[in-house]
Amino acid sequence: MILVVFLLLLTASTTLTLTSANATAYTNARTNILSGGNPSIEAVGRSSWQLLHTMAANYPERPSREQKDKMVRFIDSMSEFYPCEKCAAHLRQYIKENPPGVSSKTSLAMWFCHLHNSVNGKLGKSLFDCEITKDELTSGKCSSDQCKI
Ligand SMILES: Cc1cc2nc3c(=O)[nH]c(=O)nc-3n(C[C@H](O)[C@H](O)[C@H](O)COP(=O)(O)OP(=O)(O)OC[C@H]3O[C@@H](n4cnc5c(N)ncnc54)[C@H](O)[C@@H]3O)c2cc1C
Repeated sequence: MILVVFLLLLTASTTLTLTSANATAYTNARTNILSGGNPSIEAVGRSSWQLLHTMAANYPERPSREQKDKMVRFIDSMSEFYPCEKCAAHLRQYIKENPPGVSSKTSLAMWFCHLHNSVNGKLGKSLFDCEITKDELTSGKCSSDQCKI
């Protein structure tokens, strides 16, 4: 009986600790986003790349016609509303020359990787090896050093 009560108390206190850790992380995220006005091009860029690469990793390997159309529209909208005009212009030009690869998860992951490289190249940064990291980019579990943000 004493052991059961002890285990119940232990579970409750662990849950409380985790809940309060989550609450702290949530509060930090809430106070950081948009604090002090618009975030920098770099901060928006890092968040955007994280969203885009993660979205590709979760895109279906065999998308429906509707899903492909929606992804094309998403990318197209992004090229109009991305909150950095020179970045949006680069994206529009890239789309014109390289229509989005929406036929499968792998083609989308590679399309974003090459798009990201085109920006890296423009900014004089080193390029990512899209072929070598193909499996990691499609699984969303990239553990190589290249993937550290
Ligand atoms: C569509 C778009 C267009 C942009 N255009 C411009 C622009 O014209 N001018 C400008 O100054 N900034 C632009 N940016 C922002 C720029 O790309 C960076 O986000 C910003 O400079 C911060 O760079 P960073 O070195 O911290 O890493 P980021 O380039 O933001 O990358 C984040 C992480 O992604 C990983 N990564 C790097 N390359 C690849 C890849 N090819 N595939 C997969 N993962 C990769 C690395 O782990 C890296 O640390 C653009 C961003 C986007 C989303």
